[in-house]
Amino acid sequence: MRKLVIGLEIHIQLNTKNKLFCQCPVAFGDTINTNTCPICLGYPGALPHMNQEAVRMGIELGLALKGNIQQHSYFERKNYFYPDLPKGYQITQHSAPLVKNGFLRIQHKKIRIEQIHLEEDTAKLTHEGNFVNLEVDFNRSGIPLLEVVTKPDIESPDEAVRFLTNLKKIVEYLGVSSGKMEEGALRCDVNISLSSTGKHPHYRIEVKNLNSFRSVYKSILFELARQEEFLNQHQKPISETRGFDDKTEETFLLRKKASAYDYRYFPEPDLLAIHISPEEIESIRNQLPELPAQARKRLMEKYGLSIIKANSISASRTLCSFFEQTNALYPDPKKIVNWLLTDFFKNLNKYNLTLLTQKMKPIHFASLLRILDSGSVSANHGKQILEIMMKEGLEPEQIIHSLHLTQENNPDVLDKWIDMALAKYPKEIRVYQSGKNNIIDMFVGEVLEISLGRANPVLVKSRLETRLMKKSTDKGR
Ligand SMILES: [Zn+2]
Repeated sequence: MRKLVIGLEIHIQLNTKNKLFCQCPVAFGDTINTNTCPICLGYPGALPHMNQEAVRMGIELGLALKGNIQQHSYFERKNYFYPDLPKGYQITQHSAPLVKNGFLRIQHKKIRIEQIHLEEDTAKLTHEGNFVNLEVDFNRSGIPLLEVVTKPDIESPDEAVRFLTNLKKIVEYLGVSSGKMEEGALRCDVNISLSSTGKHPHYRIEVKNLNSFRSVYKSILFELARQEEFLNQHQKPISETRGFDDKTEETFLLRKKASAYDYRYFPEPDLLAIHISPEEIESIRNQLPELPAQARKRLMEKYGLSIIKANSISASRTLCSFFEQTNALYPDPKKIVNWLLTDFFKNLNKYNLTLLTQKMKPIHFASLLRILDSGSVSANHGKQILEIMMKEGLEPEQIIHSLHLTQENNPDVLDKWIDMALAKYPKEIRVYQSGKNNIIDMFVGEVLEISLGRANPVLVKSRLETRLMKKSTDKGR
């Protein structure tokens, strides 16, 4: 039996106000090369200065992952050449990281964390296959990164994705990063090897720069098959660094480990070491916000939600707070959750919205639920209104008014529609009266169609029952 041995290195882009060593803003989507200065452009002689906000975020993540915050840590230069790094070295932490040890639970298993360290991001390169048409965007250069390095405790692609999902939730709850993989705010390198029972593998394949859960999952599956083939032929896979092609879902060779760079690390002479007192660590610990596991527990205890529903709602801090804000105005937690986990999510997918881009406010969602309770709008129209609210952010009353969606409860109006429906199906009336009572739903459907969905179906059904009974007694007379 062979076992997968997987370790992850995750780069998390911090959403500090400024970059790690200069005053340039940290922003996503700005015109390229507009957020730059001599420091993050790597001019010779430009002096970096430390952003304390990034250190604080590192300590927060370290504490959330139960790590040991180091009272003394420092930066080093990692020397190598690449077009995204004009100064020829990256400022990072190597020998003395900010956080050592720690763990993150995935269900009942602990995945140990080796270290968390601070470093600067490089510029962003866009090129197609070669370096002839190269675009370099220095807006990204110098953005603070936290790198989380796990021990090789992960044993399947599912566990890898679960670890990343939980880590992403934690950074979102802490508010230290958007965690958006699609924007490169969370990037993952995966170290994959196969071991025969009990033996530690003597090689390591690293797949670099994965930017979706799917590519993490698929690259592990591909490597599992590729490495098995080597081992089946009694060959040892060669230690190397590989890339992953999203289209073919295959990994490909980037460079051999044997020719790995000697980075010649040495302490960064232009920056002071980081000193953190135990009091500072305690003060940050006391101010940590609620984390996903605590939120889930609270949702179960305070609102009586099942573990599955509490899990889904606590998956994001934004969703959790949307739920609680709605509940403060409409105190039926289960009804709110049912809408959120069904139609609300369906609409997010359907219109390619996110929790942040959808436009419905909790106060308007609560009004919609109250309107539905009053029976003045049908459940089907409720769903239609929800869609419009999420897309356009209008109040439910506005939508009901402009689309004439008020449910009709007036018996005179309902009877007029019922008459029209009955007149259309004389034969079916006799079928009903012969004892096939379930045909009534067909009549209700017809009335709803005639009324363009405005008739209150519950009232229509009860009036139809009376009418059809009356007709049969009329006949019997
Ligand atoms: Zn700068």
